[in-house]
Amino acid sequence: MKVNCLSCGFKEDLGDAYDDYEGQVKCFTCGSLLEIKTDQGTIKAVQLVKSKHRSLKQETEESLVSGG
Ligand SMILES: [Zn+2]
Repeated sequence: MKVNCLSCGFKEDLGDAYDDYEGQVKCFTCGSLLEIKTDQGTIKAVQLVKSKHRSLKQETEESLVSGG
């Protein structure tokens, strides 16, 4: 199952486990949250839940963890 990220446009390979799935997945590339619905290996719906990009009005403030 592959799905195009609505935020960065990258085609994510989610694997066979998502051939029949409904819920949220996270883009490995940009970290955006997508809500997808698939049925028998076919994408029925893709919706952008949360984008990491600042283009959306909805801006979330995340406390950055200092990693050294
Ligand atoms: Zn993405």
